[in-house]
Amino acid sequence: MRLPYNPGTPVRLVSTYGRREDPITHEKGVPHWAFDLVSDGDKTICAVVGGTVLQSRMVTDMTNPTSEWGNYISIFGNDGRVHFFCHLSERWVSAGEYVAAGQAIGMEGSTGRSTGSHLHYEVRVSVTGATVNPEEILGIPNEEGGYIVNIEEVKIGKRTDSEPQEWAKEAVEWAVTNGIIYGDGDGNLMLRETCTREQVLVFIYRMFRLMQGG
Ligand SMILES: [Zn+2]
Repeated sequence: MRLPYNPGTPVRLVSTYGRREDPITHEKGVPHWAFDLVSDGDKTICAVVGGTVLQSRMVTDMTNPTSEWGNYISIFGNDGRVHFFCHLSERWVSAGEYVAAGQAIGMEGSTGRSTGSHLHYEVRVSVTGATVNPEEILGIPNEEGGYIVNIEEVKIGKRTDSEPQEWAKEAVEWAVTNGIIYGDGDGNLMLRETCTREQVLVFIYRMFRLMQGG
């Protein structure tokens, strides 16, 4: 696994995955389901995994929530996840283009809702839209990778995914009621060891139906 920078770049992790004080309004407990990274050297941004560029754009319509991301690139990765690289000063790839892992795709910047040059790196499961803790993908802390990372305020939490998306809630509630999954009290949904393969298949089928609008 690799950081979204060229190997050897000194990178600081300045904001982790979780709730935090908003850097602009100073409101407490605002969700930040991503990593904010700052390079102290080369600011070239590189793809973390290979995949196809879904979006490479700057949204200027301020009513669109993604306008906060400024210049951003999203990549549908070979890992089945969508990787977002936000607040870039420059974008070097276009939608539809295939990029390899480690390929330079743009430059760290401060476009959009940002208080200084940094990369907002966000990862989502492509099917559910649930966010993933980038810690899992970047392998932080990573002693073998050779990346220089000063981890500021890292809280290693057990929770890795955000709340299920609105459309998935019905299927999740059904699965909890029927003893297929349970909440562990830490925000994680766990599969019961006692559930049968048939129950899991029915659950997946219900999710699939809901995704298609019932
Ligand atoms: Zn951020």
